[in-house]
Order: sequence, then structure tokens, then C-alpha cells
Amino acid sequence: MNDVELKQGYFGEFGGSFVPPELKEVLDMLAEQFEKYKNDPEFMEEFKFYLKEFVGRENPLSFARNLTEEYGGAKIYLKREDLNHTGAHKINNVIGQILLAKRMGAKRIIAETGAGQHGVATATACSMFGMDCTIYMGKLDTERQALNVFRMELLGAKIVSVDKGQGRLKDAVDEALGDLVQNYENTFYLLGSAVGPHPFPTMVKHFQSVISEESKRQILEKEGKLPDAVIAVTGGGSNAIGAFAHYIDEPSVRLIGVEPDKAATLTHGVPGVIHGFKCLVLLDEDGNPQPTYSIAAGLDYPGIGPEHSYLKTSGRAEYHAVNKEEVLEAFQLLAKKEGIIPALESAHAVAYAKKLAPQLSKDQIIIINISGRGDKDVQQAFDMIKK
Ligand SMILES: *Cc1c(COP(=O)(O)O)cnc(C)c1O
Repeated sequence: MNDVELKQGYFGEFGGSFVPPELKEVLDMLAEQFEKYKNDPEFMEEFKFYLKEFVGRENPLSFARNLTEEYGGAKIYLKREDLNHTGAHKINNVIGQILLAKRMGAKRIIAETGAGQHGVATATACSMFGMDCTIYMGKLDTERQALNVFRMELLGAKIVSVDKGQGRLKDAVDEALGDLVQNYENTFYLLGSAVGPHPFPTMVKHFQSVISEESKRQILEKEGKLPDAVIAVTGGGSNAIGAFAHYIDEPSVRLIGVEPDKAATLTHGVPGVIHGFKCLVLLDEDGNPQPTYSIAAGLDYPGIGPEHSYLKTSGRAEYHAVNKEEVLEAFQLLAKKEGIIPALESAHAVAYAKKLAPQLSKDQIIIINISGRGDKDVQQAFDMIKK
């Protein structure tokens, strides 16, 4: 598989591992184990087995006839990550990391969650694999996401509400890392996106690459050629890097990431270190990470995966911002025209397709990665649209 990593864990100047020595030691061990298993046929066969039997892969690459007609121009295909068990791409990575945890002899999984989506995916897989599961969540987030807290408890997870700092995702991550350093002998920290210190971005990409592995095979079957563009939303960057991975070495395929205009890390960010790795980051005047805002909870993050930072600065991928109105319009249009209510996150990618499709000709092809389904967002959409 393509890998732009020049030095271990680096993508150009981005990535790396900027963490205290005791944590570095634990992460080095993890990197070593990941290297050992990532190309092990038996390990990957087991991974594919659970993707099929538990997640429901492969999911379809659906031709969106009505959306194609509506936007005019290129043929639009949808990669249906929304059809996975738990309703999004996050479960792909969770299954991969839990299998690695089992190989490493861990009995206990810990994870962070903000809006709760990664926590729910982790709790789901821990239940099936019979692993002890602890989810760290900012106190403020546990209050705003009470239903997801209940969901995780139903699935057998223990929720630790963190009221240090601002009681947000960042504080939950710090607590979880502290737990890992204390308990690394029996505990595995399962990170949810293509961010964080090495080896997490590389590992998450490895497990999410199944998205483009499938879509490439599917588009060749259906159209006999590669797509002209692949569009995906970027929060931390995991669904996008998975949707891009098998096309990075195909220069004819445009790779397009879409972000919210109020958290436009790749559009406006500058190189900086946050949360233990170097990436493009939105900083305020004092050089601190800027508060971000998105109507999609999964995109509310001031940093971005190191490989996206590299793909942007090297020019291999392009990144564009869309606003709230464009997202809400795309959310409703996909529901009305294709019978698919997308996650508000995924609606960002659809919104950009509206701009791109008419610029291309009818024999060109766009793949939009529908990262998740929108059931979780219906109440919020109701409040925004009807009130
Ligand atoms: C979490 C989430 C995202 C954003 O995360 P990435 O790591 O950028 O993929 C996007 N879409 C959905 C449906 C999500 O749940």
C-alpha cells in the first residue's frame, strides 16, 4: 500500500510523537506490535472476517441517479459507510484496533469520546469481543450527550465523566492517556481518528483503507475506469484518508476533503503541535488552539490528521470549506432525492459535490464518501430547519 511516511510516523514535516517519555515508551511498543501484525495474513483475514460478519461489509457503491440529474454534470456514486453496523465508518477502525489489542494480550480497552460516536462504536465492539471497556468523556459532553452515555452503558461500558479543565474532549484525552501510562500492561488505548502521536494516524489509515480498497474494485467493475474525483468530509480525517488511500498513487484521481467553514483547519491552519503531533492547526493570536464550531459534532476539532496536512501542502489533495446553509441543503436534498438521510458530517461532502459536478462532463465520475447515517442528527436538523 502507498505510504508517504519518510521517517517513522512522519508525513513530510507533519506527524511525529511529541509526548512525555513514559508515554513515548508505551507508544513505541504499540508501533512495534502494529508493524508486526499489519501485514500478517492471518491477522488481516480475521479483520476481514469481522468486517463481513459483524460490520456487514462490503457495503455498496451506489449510483446516485437522481442526485446526478439534479446537480448536472459528472456521474455521482455514493460509498455507503452509513450502512455499516452502528451507522458510520468508525467501526472499521475499532474492529482493527481491538484485534490488535487482543494480540497484545490486553484485557481492557479505554477510549475518549466527544459527541459519543466513537465511544458507542468502541463499546459495541468491546461487547461482542468480551473486552472490559472504559470510555472517558468530558463532563460537559456527558450532559449534552446523555442518550449516547446511556447507549454505551447499555452496551456494557463504564463511562468516566471528566470535570478537569473545560470538561471537554481534550480533557478526556488527557485522562485516558494518564490511564494508559498507569495500566499499559493490560490496557489498550483505542483512538478514534487519524490524529494523535505515532503510530495512531498510520494505524487508523491502515484499518480505514478498506473503504477505498472496496470502492476502487467496485468502480472498476461498474465503470471500467477510475473515478475523476473522490470527495470526503474531514474532521480528524479518518474516513477521508480511508476513502483516499488506494487512490493516492493514481494521479488522475482528484482527492478532495471538505471541512466546515468555522473549523477550516486545512484551509486556514498553520503548522503547529497539538495533542502530541504536528499538523496544520487553527491558532488564535496567542498561539493557542482556536475554539471551533460545527453543526456536525464529529467535525469540531482545531487540528487535522498529519497525512492530510502533508497531502495539502504537497498539493496532492485539495481541501474546501462549506457553510452551514450549504450543508443543511445537501442533507435535505440527499434525503429527498436518494432516500438516504446522511450524517450532518457526510452532508459536507455532498454540499461540495454540488459545486464540482457541474464543472465536469457527463462521462466523468465522482465518488462521495457517505461516512455515516443521519438518524443521530434528525432532532438537531428538526430544530434548525423547523424553528
Ligand atoms: C466522527 C465522524 C466524522 C469525522 O471523523 P473523521 O475522523 O474525520 O472521519 C465524519 N462522519 C461521521 C459520520 C462521523 O461519525
